[in-house]
Amino acid sequence: MDSADPPARAERLNALLTEYSGPPRLTDHAGTGWHLHYRPDDLPAHRQIASLIAVGTALHLTGRGMHRLGRCAAGGCAHVYADFSRNGRQRYCSPACGNRDAVRRHRARTGAETEGADAGL
Ligand SMILES: [Zn+2]
Ligand SMILES: [Zn+2]
Repeated sequence: MDSADPPARAERLNALLTEYSGPPRLTDHAGTGWHLHYRPDDLPAHRQIASLIAVGTALHLTGRGMHRLGRCAAGGCAHVYADFSRNGRQRYCSPACGNRDAVRRHRARTGAETEGADAGL
């Protein structure tokens, strides 16, 4: 389901754009200022959301880099994140998952060390 390699990502995203977005259109539908929509104005809400996600993801990846989308590296978490980090090396969906994984890795390391020490006594 996930594809990390840029051509595969582009292909999947292009399929979503074909399905859910339309030609760019200038609109002032709320009377709050002219802006671009990448869809017709009269879509039902669920199609508007699908269009927003497809176009938003495409703009994010082409603007920031094709690798800036990932799945959380913490065990047991399946969340997807958009990487807005400065260095583009985000691995977790949230600081909470990063901390939880750091604690788990620390325990795994020190647990192994303790066993080694016990065996030596
Ligand atoms: Zn709008
Ligand atoms: Zn997570």
